[in-house]
Amino acid sequence: MKRRVTVLGSTGSIGVSTLDVLARHPERYQVYALTANNSVTDLYQQCLSHQPRYAVLRQQEEAAQLALMLRQAGSATEVLAGAAGLVDVAAAAEVDTVMAAIVGAAGLEPTLAAVRAGKQVLLANKESLVMAGGLFMQAVREHQATLLPIDSEHNAIFQCLPADYRGLQHSGIRKILLTGSGGPFRQTPLAQLSGMTPDQACAHPNWSMGRKISVDSATMMNKGLEFIEACWLFGVSPEQIEIVVHPQSVVHSMVEYVDGSVLAQMGNPDMRTPIAHALAWPERIESGVASLDFMAVARLDFEAPDYQRFPALQLSVAAANAGGIMPASLNAANEVAVEAFLQQQIRFTDIPVVIEKVLDKTDNIEPADLNTVKDADREARARAESVVVPMRRDFHAGSKSNQR
Ligand code: NAD
Ligand code: MG
Repeated sequence: MKRRVTVLGSTGSIGVSTLDVLARHPERYQVYALTANNSVTDLYQQCLSHQPRYAVLRQQEEAAQLALMLRQAGSATEVLAGAAGLVDVAAAAEVDTVMAAIVGAAGLEPTLAAVRAGKQVLLANKESLVMAGGLFMQAVREHQATLLPIDSEHNAIFQCLPADYRGLQHSGIRKILLTGSGGPFRQTPLAQLSGMTPDQACAHPNWSMGRKISVDSATMMNKGLEFIEACWLFGVSPEQIEIVVHPQSVVHSMVEYVDGSVLAQMGNPDMRTPIAHALAWPERIESGVASLDFMAVARLDFEAPDYQRFPALQLSVAAANAGGIMPASLNAANEVAVEAFLQQQIRFTDIPVVIEKVLDKTDNIEPADLNTVKDADREARARAESVVVPMRRDFHAGSKSNQR
């Protein structure tokens, strides 16, 4: 029997890599549904190539447009729209595996729907665990979903853990070493950081990714979100994880055992490796990724994270320690700040300032249900928007005076 796969966010960086791996194994996988925000043309092309049963777009008008294009091309793919469509294709009885690759908070509900339907869930959308980790992991247990990490670091850690992993202590593990490249600005003089543009921030030295996660890598907020993600995925507390900067992105993370053994997972920085690993788990399949050439890599460097350069990292560790709704507020504030930076409304160095101001004004509570999380997300976004307003004025005044 072929496994039927839904790819949420199929037109993005992870979505495209997932379809690349799936297409290498037509005897094992069949695409059930593909979804996108608003990229009608990309989704149309993907539908013609992969012939899913369903395609989903966010807006009704664009869904109608895609449906017409597909009908004219003689395609049998049906088109759905909106959040309800996403939940349908994530939880449908016919689906075995769901790749959760929507970016940001928008990924939470469809991913949770897949978990509640007991699917094999391949989790790229780290934001959903950051926002609602406790509720999410509880749903995984209750509905016996199989949760497999796609984030390269978490996939690496998963590969370095024993198959019967039931917690650090039980498995004789001392700590988890979460590696990160340090992004494009690891060595940029601090005084120049405020002038960095969206294109400079998105030019990651090792990975090619969507724009939001690329900016997160430049601020190292990505490592902060991953720090929180790792706490939930592996049931560990913040002090059991050490962040290690490793500029080559060859070691994808490590696990240190009590006997002093350190296991690392290595490979070329190509997301098709963790995607293929999770798709086929516990088996192994070809991913299309080239062999790691150790002679070409030549050396592996490691250094401590610089919290002065990357204040977002410090804020994330504090949010992980605080728990409650703080990680959801951190994530929401970051999404607003990153979007404003990408729209060239605030400076690169304003991003952590927005987050800090929002968290300072957040009264922490333990989220009892998803509504509490959604309220926290909404409130943090509103606070972040109001923090951004004067920054936007300063930014425009600054760019005008530069032009003079
Ligand atoms: P991307 O921006 O390239 O793609 C995002 C996808 O989500 C697109 O298909 C887009 O159409 C869809 N989408 C965006 N907003 C939506 C909305 N409101 N409703 C429905 N669909 C929406 O992002 P990406 O780089 O592929 O990242 C996806 C997720 O995977 C993120 O959570 C990211 O943190 C995580 N991740 C990515 C990488 C990587 O290498 N790109 C690595 C690790 C983790
Ligand atoms: Mg990662």
